[in-house]
Amino acid sequence: MDRGELERRLDRAAGFAEPRVALEQYPTPPDVAAHLLHFAAMQGDLADRTVIDLGAGTGVLALGAACLGPQRVIGVERDTAAIPTARENEARVDPTTPVAWLAGDAPRPPLCTDDATVVMNPPFGAQTGREGADRAFLATASDLAAVSHSIHNAGSHDFVESFAADNGGTVTHAFRVQLALGRQFEFHDADRREIPALAARIEWD
Ligand code: SAH
Repeated sequence: MDRGELERRLDRAAGFAEPRVALEQYPTPPDVAAHLLHFAAMQGDLADRTVIDLGAGTGVLALGAACLGPQRVIGVERDTAAIPTARENEARVDPTTPVAWLAGDAPRPPLCTDDATVVMNPPFGAQTGREGADRAFLATASDLAAVSHSIHNAGSHDFVESFAADNGGTVTHAFRVQLALGRQFEFHDADRREIPALAARIEWD
């Protein structure tokens, strides 16, 4: 499936029914999800692989990966209220590979593997005063994954590089992405905001 078709499919996915600010629930925009997943596919990181989406939320990353020929896809999400949305989105996106949706805490994942591909758009912690909230997600990726694709705060390049270096990882690619987020929480004063962010591909020992 080409990137344009992937983006059109992901555009069918609904957002969070009741977004929870404490969990930083923002759906990954379809263009960014398609960009990241198309790139992952070009790197050979999706076909015939076990793909795990940590903090799966509305399921966009898991569902996009499931359109690109993986062996299996697992979405892990702490908020059980989001899982029905992800299931509905699965029916809308209609991927070729079914997704297993698991309720669980990303830092203590309900899974055991070390050669998966992890895809994730974790909480950044910027809004909740918990800067570095993505650290625990990266630690889980280092345990579960041979390779990960993740989205971080724009300013976290050095943090991601040093975290990877300290945990048996190598950042092979890093590129800027723009997250166009719709108005979701009451404290948002604009209808649409562009958040600059960083996408990283990390190979883990
Ligand atoms: N990738 C998803 C959601 C991104 S927002 C999408 O595109 O819709 C971050 C997600 O991480 C939210 O769904 C939030 O509920 C989830 N999350 C936050 N802390 C978590 C944790 N400790 N374990 C699992 N999921 C968590």
